[in-house]
Amino acid sequence: MIRPILLYGDDILREISVEVSPESKHNIEKLIFDMFETMHAAKGVGLAAVQIGVPLRLFVVDINLKEENYYFRGAFINPEIVEWTGPERNLVKYTEGCLSVPGLAAIVERSESVELSWYDEKWEFHQEVFSGYAARIIQHEYDHLSGVFYTDHLDTMWQNLIQPSLDLIEERKIEPGYSWK
Ligand code: ZN
Repeated sequence: MIRPILLYGDDILREISVEVSPESKHNIEKLIFDMFETMHAAKGVGLAAVQIGVPLRLFVVDINLKEENYYFRGAFINPEIVEWTGPERNLVKYTEGCLSVPGLAAIVERSESVELSWYDEKWEFHQEVFSGYAARIIQHEYDHLSGVFYTDHLDTMWQNLIQPSLDLIEERKIEPGYSWK
């Protein structure tokens, strides 16, 4: 079921998401299904549960770059970034957008690689190092679990530049082209 995506300005998006309990397995499967469906309908590559109003520590990612032969898909339950950078603390800049901040994009500096632990939808534990595009999306989605938007990382000059656009979203004077609330 496609669910409406919460937009910037909604207080729920600033909440700290809580751990998912394994006992809630059935509901989580349904939630993950809905999250993929909602994300695909909105043409996104990542979505945190809180973005559809469920403040649980869970996000989904689906990157499908045919030309570059790059595919990365998964559901990440109770994720934990155990290491933020590679040994050289390599920071990289790249353009980001967010389904909760429609019509906007900005360059954000993030770690080139992260080591993440998480449970998949079968409650199997994983720990793996990600780099490049996958690491960027993981860090972006992980931020949502702490109520943080990519726009929070921008310096004052960029914050000031994009503030009018953020105001328009907050006033709901935009049409993202997908189901939202
Ligand atoms: Zn986002």
